[in-house]
Amino acid sequence: MKKEIREAARIIRRSTKTAALTGAGISVESGIPDFRSRCGLWERFDPMEYGTIEAFRTHPEKVWAMLEVMWSIMEPARPNAAHKGLARLEELGLLEGIITQNIDNLHQAAGSKRVIEYHGNCRTLSCLSCGRQYRAADVSQQLPPKCTCGKILKPDVVFFGEAIPAQPVIESQALAHACQVLLVVGTSATVAPANAIPRIAQMSGAQIIEVNITPTLLTPLVTEVFLHGKATEVVTALVNEVEKTMG
Ligand code: NAD
Repeated sequence: MKKEIREAARIIRRSTKTAALTGAGISVESGIPDFRSRCGLWERFDPMEYGTIEAFRTHPEKVWAMLEVMWSIMEPARPNAAHKGLARLEELGLLEGIITQNIDNLHQAAGSKRVIEYHGNCRTLSCLSCGRQYRAADVSQQLPPKCTCGKILKPDVVFFGEAIPAQPVIESQALAHACQVLLVVGTSATVAPANAIPRIAQMSGAQIIEVNITPTLLTPLVTEVFLHGKATEVVTALVNEVEKTMG
């Protein structure tokens, strides 16, 4: 493993533009379960049943039963060493930006400045009927939160079956095309279209470094260096190694 960390650090140091793609796995050690975790949350609420836009449009109260539990898990969560490690890389001028599939705001809480939120975020909610938008902090006292027009509000996260907003798609594709290195942390690469980003980067000439506790669909296809282990441990070791080579 030490050898792989050294190799990954060398690749990052040599690169003039490195980007990161993160998934639910990076936040597992902050207490937020990913879809693969054997945990009460996703056993109780199948994301394919509760996480679709169709489900929200037809039964918003039912979907809010899941959102309330998710909210109670995300609200107290704090950034872990992996989020902080990526923020440190950006501070050192070695990370151009992060494309995250997460909606938990933990990269920003760790201090990362350029974060492209591919699947939206939980900070705001909107009314699907009249389009009014609210800050979560202003409406979360009463759940499910309602718009002044009476309709139940939807968090501004991308549900299954919903289109990804144009801005993150354009920004992340540009970053994937331009980067020389893509650091992929804690994603199973099963959710489209975000899972195309590593392939786009690789086709444009980028080297892919992957951090995960288990190989993924990406590993045999695009990954050049696979760093096996928990995100907190691996990212910390990687950033330490990078800093060591900076003297
Ligand atoms: P996923 O649940 O499909 O896969 C998570 C990946 O992380 C797996 O490959 C797993 O092996 C790996 N992993 C788990 N723990 C890890 C650790 N400690 N260190 C390193 N790797 C670890 O997640 P995904 O690929 O991001 O796709 C699921 C979708 O669900 C995403 O679109 C995301 O928006 C959403 N989601 C978000 C959150 C969040 O915001 N924190 C949580 C759950 C799901």
